[in-house]
Amino acid sequence: MTATPTSPTGRPERLIVRTRTSVLAQLRDRIAGAVLGPGDAGFREARAGFNRLVIHRPSVIAVPENHFDVVEAVRFAAEEDLRITVQATGHGTGVAADGGLLINTSRLTAVAVDPVTRTARVAAGATWKAVLDAAVPYGLAPLMGSASIVGAIGYTLGGGFGWLGRRFGLASDSVLSFDLVIPDGTPIRVSDASFPHIFWALKGGGAGSLGVVTSMEIALADVSTVYAGNLFYPAAEAEEIIRRFRDWAPAQPEALTSAVTILNLPPTDDVPEPLRGGSFAVVRGCWSGDLATGRAIVDGWRNWRTPLVDMWDEMPFAATDAISMDPTEPMPVMVTTEWFDDLHDEAIDIIAGCARPAPGSAPLIMSAEIRHAGGAIARGAAHAANDRARSGRFLLELISMVPDPQVALAVESTQRVTRTELAPYVTGATYLNFTSGAERAGRAADAYSAEHRRRLLEIKATLDPYDRFCHGDIG
Ligand SMILES: Cc1cc2nc3c(=O)[nH]c(=O)nc-3n(C[C@H](O)[C@H](O)[C@H](O)COP(=O)(O)OP(=O)(O)OC[C@H]3O[C@@H](n4cnc5c(N)ncnc54)[C@H](O)[C@@H]3O)c2cc1C
Repeated sequence: MTATPTSPTGRPERLIVRTRTSVLAQLRDRIAGAVLGPGDAGFREARAGFNRLVIHRPSVIAVPENHFDVVEAVRFAAEEDLRITVQATGHGTGVAADGGLLINTSRLTAVAVDPVTRTARVAAGATWKAVLDAAVPYGLAPLMGSASIVGAIGYTLGGGFGWLGRRFGLASDSVLSFDLVIPDGTPIRVSDASFPHIFWALKGGGAGSLGVVTSMEIALADVSTVYAGNLFYPAAEAEEIIRRFRDWAPAQPEALTSAVTILNLPPTDDVPEPLRGGSFAVVRGCWSGDLATGRAIVDGWRNWRTPLVDMWDEMPFAATDAISMDPTEPMPVMVTTEWFDDLHDEAIDIIAGCARPAPGSAPLIMSAEIRHAGGAIARGAAHAANDRARSGRFLLELISMVPDPQVALAVESTQRVTRTELAPYVTGATYLNFTSGAERAGRAADAYSAEHRRRLLEIKATLDPYDRFCHGDIG
């Protein structure tokens, strides 16, 4: 016998025990957007996100058309005693919702750029691509990450470490205000001047815990053309390349944000011919200063050793998805991460050993990327909610595709063993955006110092006493 799901206040989840159709009809009457129950056409699509490994199983999905729909949906959940989960693109799903209300923000895509103040107001479901499209005509750029299909607000709530990071900081540093619907359904605007403690908590303090952010206002950077790309070396040279990168990157100006990546590319048609099915050690990054200086910096690598393939070039910032070449089709993905202050030789050997496939066997790790942080990312740490999640020098991200449960087991074991071996060398901090599923919830506390976590929990308890937003990062 299965236990009856209980609601945030401990009562049985009412949508489960009451006639679903009448409750759904009530919400349909209240919002302009779609309301879907299990079995309705479109329900499966509306709950599915990019990462197909973590699938929400809500009792009801609301797909708001506007800000007012979000307010009504959250009020409805409060009246019906339901938990609430928010999903934009599903790139960063944490714990899967079981029952309750899922608010799918994908129709809230408006972006308005003010070229005079160099700011943008970005709605809940807008991707970075939508922000780019609106900002580029004015020579402006948002602090987006490696893939423009990621949701701008979900990315920012988790911090947001992108290719302009060392120069301008995390995306959360660029936020001027959030419009937030708090768990009782009240809409508020938070900024340095209004509810500053909630503003502080939302700026990198984690996603999905304090309410639904219906929009954010962000400062845009004055960046249009950059020098960016990849140098591909054989994966057999990975240890040597990573050691050189460790010593080289900290000496570079903050206009360079760079990474070294062991990349195992699939043998598929979408991968360019010289790289298809290959295993590489890649030096990649983005220089947003004077272009000739950027070229000279990368020449240092070319002169040291000629790469197999050289893709660094001048490019519009809007084209920088080409640096990471991240997958764009939904798929099951497992991601994990660690921070390092110093990259010891032993740690480098462990990373290279786990990521480089044994001869003749398929790789379990698609990408092992070590991003160089510091600069404005580290400078902003002391005051940021996620202080521990941004103060290290090198950030490792391990990404694997897991097409079936057997591969998932093998990947889970490889990631766990690698993290255990790396334990003596890491800081122990978590960068939330580079975790997913249960691991995101399990390690969230390590994004914050004890003092910042205490403040976040206090804010959470005041705003959300029934833990209605229980699937988020603070908890
Ligand atoms: C291909 C790829 C590339 C990436 N590159 C980078 C990178 O370069 N740098 C980096 O820092 N991260 C990167 N990420 C990680 C990404 O930032 C996180 O996965 C982020 O959580 C995605 O946000 P989303 O809104 O798109 O996803 P979702 O899964 O929809 O949301 C993620 C979290 O945010 C919450 N959330 C979303 N919208 C709202 C809202 N309006 N109000 C309240 N809570 C909300 C959700 O509840 C969930 O907890 C990448 C991820 C992928 C898959």
